[in-house]
Amino acid sequence: MALLVQKFGGTSVGSVDRIEKVAEKVRKFRDQGDDIVVVVSAMSGETNRLISLANEIMEEPTAREMDVLVSTGEQVTIALLCMALHKRGVAARSYTGPQVRILTDDSHTKARILDIDNHNIQADLSAGRVVVVAGFQGVDESGNITTLGRGGSDTTAVALAAALKADECQIYTDVDGVYTTDPRVVDSARRLDTITFEEMLEMASLGSKVLQIRSVEFAGKYNVPLRVLHSFQEGPGTLITIEDDDNMEQPIVSGIAFNRDEAKLTIAGVPDIPGVASKILKPVSDANIEVDMIVQNVGADNHTDFTFTVHRNDFKKAQAILVRLSEELEAKEVKGDDKIAKVSIVGVGMRSHAGVASKMFEALSVEGINIQMISTSEIKVSVVIDEKYLELAVRSLHSAFELSEKPA
Ligand code: ASP
Ligand code: MG
Repeated sequence: MALLVQKFGGTSVGSVDRIEKVAEKVRKFRDQGDDIVVVVSAMSGETNRLISLANEIMEEPTAREMDVLVSTGEQVTIALLCMALHKRGVAARSYTGPQVRILTDDSHTKARILDIDNHNIQADLSAGRVVVVAGFQGVDESGNITTLGRGGSDTTAVALAAALKADECQIYTDVDGVYTTDPRVVDSARRLDTITFEEMLEMASLGSKVLQIRSVEFAGKYNVPLRVLHSFQEGPGTLITIEDDDNMEQPIVSGIAFNRDEAKLTIAGVPDIPGVASKILKPVSDANIEVDMIVQNVGADNHTDFTFTVHRNDFKKAQAILVRLSEELEAKEVKGDDKIAKVSIVGVGMRSHAGVASKMFEALSVEGINIQMISTSEIKVSVVIDEKYLELAVRSLHSAFELSEKPA
């Protein structure tokens, strides 16, 4: 017997038929004696539909009314799921976020959870009921409805699991787990049995969009075992958990993440004196442009080249800022390239192994792929390359680190 929080995403509850299937699944767990709290998203496409209704009226409605509007999507699903459970003889009750009292701050459309009052839920569980909670929403101190940002139902599920000290938080979705890399790029990509929170954060922030990043941070912070599984196929999924010190077989590299939406900018021939880096990056960050990798070399005759990457959508804006700055700094030129991609190898095993980066560079050089920039962290090595070699790079790294084979 376990206490499980089970979250079903939009496609898993995308039709009445699927909602009935989810109810069937929940009933089976219930029959085994598990206590179940279900968190659901809005039916697929519903949140977008609501947003476009709002935009038919005005381009920028107030965030408060936006939250009142988009929170309704999840309210539909909780009621329908409870009905489908009742039809199967399963006692169940639905709650919106405010009804549970998922207390958040007042940052409408991107609120953060501050506290969860779990006594309603506990009482229902004790009475043998399944509890169905609307994801993505809460309430602020003053009673206003808030939402947690797109994909926020994952975070609701993890937060409830933490508050209830659940045995596991299970995220049911349309993939059967977390893979060594995107299976659309590498046929032989393998489902991972386990991955650490830290690795998952790197994989997620680099474009493996299985979970809302904030939910993984939350799960790591409160050590909530988090499992990603397919809604309608049997299988163990992938367990996201803390690093296992005893695991001698820890692979050095667990996965390969990549991101196509990058662009690179260089301001060449700027004075190599204190304060220049901040002079360059201050206006960029003031324009709300996020900078990812940064490279600056020791230059010749007291001048240097300064290069950084931004999201491709911000390329033009950042370029204009640099062109303006180049006069003030008497820079030689501003160069840019918005056809680059970033590829990263990720693994906690890197901490205790040397030579991982050089193995990566070797594999890329065998394919004749030029590395334009490099950055590293304790558990990650990232390179920037020409976008047209992205798939080749991912495939060659996947095979160089033997990721198709299950570690012994
Ligand atoms: N319905 C919300 C969205 O589409 C929240 C979620 O699905 O997690 O972003
Ligand atoms: Mg989602």
